[in-house]
Amino acid sequence: MPIYEFRCESAHEYERSVPISARDEAQDCPDCGAPSRRRISTPRLSRLGSGAGKLLDATARSAHEPAVVDRVPGARPAATRTTTDPRHARLPRP
Ligand SMILES: [Zn+2]
Repeated sequence: MPIYEFRCESAHEYERSVPISARDEAQDCPDCGAPSRRRISTPRLSRLGSGAGKLLDATARSAHEPAVVDRVPGARPAATRTTTDPRHARLPRP
């Protein structure tokens, strides 16, 4: 369902996911319960697919759900050495 912007009589603004068939129906304001009308807003089509748009979306998303990382972003993961020499298996391990 698309997300529409609504504004009530008391000027509370909010976004709500509403079926397209119900987009013009009055919604109840979550703050005061007054009926709200849909606002006309611009879609973010120009930002879709652009690097700046992805960065803005990631920034907005991380404001509410910070990403958990196990190393510094951009750092190379620790190299895992592999060897086929059987003598290496007898070496002391830390
Ligand atoms: Zn309201």
